[in-house]
Amino acid sequence: MIPVPTPALLKQITANENNVYASYRRLIDAALAKQATRGDSYQRLIVQWSKLNLIPPGEAKEGTARRRAAELPQFITDLNQLLAPAATQAQQPAEDFPPVAGSPWIIRLLKLVEEKVVRPIETGSPRAMASVRTCFGDEAAAAVPRFREILQQLQAIHARSDGKSKGMLYNPALPRSMGALGRGSGAVACIDLSSEFRPHLMSDVKAASTLVHEGSHTLAVEPTVDFAYRDAHAHYLLPPKLALLNAGNYEQVVIDLIGGMPGQLNAGEVEALRDGAGDSLAQVHALMCSRVVRAWVRVYDLIGLAANGRITAGELRGLPPLPSDSGPLLTAVLRELFAQLETLMSAVNDYLVLRLGAQAGGGLNRAPEQRTKDDPGAHQRPATLDDTQPLTFESTPTATTVTVSFDWASKGAPDAIARNILFELTDRIWQGKQAAFSGSEVAHVVQSIQLTDRPALRMMLEDYYARLSRKAKID
Ligand SMILES: [Zn+2]
Repeated sequence: MIPVPTPALLKQITANENNVYASYRRLIDAALAKQATRGDSYQRLIVQWSKLNLIPPGEAKEGTARRRAAELPQFITDLNQLLAPAATQAQQPAEDFPPVAGSPWIIRLLKLVEEKVVRPIETGSPRAMASVRTCFGDEAAAAVPRFREILQQLQAIHARSDGKSKGMLYNPALPRSMGALGRGSGAVACIDLSSEFRPHLMSDVKAASTLVHEGSHTLAVEPTVDFAYRDAHAHYLLPPKLALLNAGNYEQVVIDLIGGMPGQLNAGEVEALRDGAGDSLAQVHALMCSRVVRAWVRVYDLIGLAANGRITAGELRGLPPLPSDSGPLLTAVLRELFAQLETLMSAVNDYLVLRLGAQAGGGLNRAPEQRTKDDPGAHQRPATLDDTQPLTFESTPTATTVTVSFDWASKGAPDAIARNILFELTDRIWQGKQAAFSGSEVAHVVQSIQLTDRPALRMMLEDYYARLSRKAKID
């Protein structure tokens, strides 16, 4: 549903202020593009909408703004009516959730964490310590006591559950990609559980590691954040000081000790990757994963702030121009941005494969042009004979494979390669699709996250990205 403009917003539309009309345009274009049934009323709305956006020759700017302010409320009311059946269908019927307080499954999960993770770490079992060292490098000793703290925090949160507002509670509104979500810290922390967080839908390993991940976010002292999820081994590449503050690294130890998931790296392989030491494509992928994750989490946080009317213009820095002081409208556009970032996160974390091109015999190669904030468009390089494309994209339903030319990969810094792949990828995802934000707008949000994230994290992110941006060896 698109929020019907308030008198204050209509005034801003009339005055051409605060990006209000432009934001409605984003929402309406996206809603019309998503509409599946396209009957007569849909066609009528399309015609009306293009008239509203058209500026007839001779109409003054003020006249256009006044006309839009006059017609927009009724247009949105009609559009919402068209969207209503779909919106109702999308709403899941109310589910019955098992009680959380005293849940034998959750008690068993916490016991599993105690017996298989916390105690072996405290008693220095070789298997447990190998995992801790792999995940935290030379900060392993500092990580050890934090596992007990996380478990105690989880036990306290579970004990507070009242099925209404405290402790652990089911929240069917949680995005499906989040298994659970920690909120607040210390004695007032809560953990929301998604509708998938149930014994018959989620394995014990997944549930226990998710709880530890979320519990680590709620520690009273030095709570963790999400610098990098476990995708593409990004969490292994964090410098140990950041690993200590990254929830995914605690989650990884739980997976190692309770489950043993296939495809993970051993200590030697991690050593080769950590701290900017690894091959450049592994770093490129890790950089992309980390940036997309931070952008996704950040926009999720902004939605919360906007919905509570506690957002400032400063917090919207780095995002495309948005209406800063309008709760429901801002919340609605941020939700669209979040959904697009969710799509991008899945594309980067789950579907992207980076491959090094063959070492060609003397092909003519230049590094591709950098895109800048003022000029996000891709510059087509003039085709020359004997020219190898720096990036070649191949998409199948299960993977997007990007081949980075050998010459370029050996000359380019990981950050420059990551940046170009990101812009190209977002262009491909949203090209020709009417979405609220264009591919390059989404890419800019991601690419500038170390400048616009929560102030406390900016320095750390810049530091991490700078380490990975160093020229790395390829072979
Ligand atoms: Zn997290």
